[in-house]
Amino acid sequence: MSVRPILTVDSDLAVLKQKSLPVERVDDDLRRLMDDMLETMYAAPGIGLAAIQIGEPKRVIVMDLAREGEPPQPRYFVNPEILWRSEETVPYEEGCLSVPEIYDEVERAARVRVRYLNYQGAEIEEEAEGLFAVCIQHEMDHLEGVLFIDHLSRLKRERAIKTVRKAAKQAA
Ligand code: ZN
Repeated sequence: MSVRPILTVDSDLAVLKQKSLPVERVDDDLRRLMDDMLETMYAAPGIGLAAIQIGEPKRVIVMDLAREGEPPQPRYFVNPEILWRSEETVPYEEGCLSVPEIYDEVERAARVRVRYLNYQGAEIEEEAEGLFAVCIQHEMDHLEGVLFIDHLSRLKRERAIKTVRKAAKQAA
């Protein structure tokens, strides 16, 4: 396993805007990618990561919503699909490893029903709510090249990218 660089909106916006492609099969190569993604996410640290965030345009997501002090609960989603979303929506203050240090409120469906393949390649269908629902919708947006700042006003989005760019320059 290895920690891979995470792409950010200041220098890699064009890559992050790409639409990711479906995975043909869950094999050892893909599991290696998922292992790298999980390690990269833990190192960041973050609670969710899509493959495109490390430059791989594949429909793969990793997630761990365990709270501090709880044992790790890694989750893997290959070719996820949203089968249903609730009409009820909830606001949540989101952040993203590709938009470091920026947080803003996004309104999303409160509950969704998802179907995906897991780490072993088995098909799973389940209903998500709370933070799980927020996170899976945020990560699935990445597969379409959509960032959480795309849900904000143009002004806020441009300001966010500018802020990230400035911070990256200062760090360089
Ligand atoms: Zn994100």
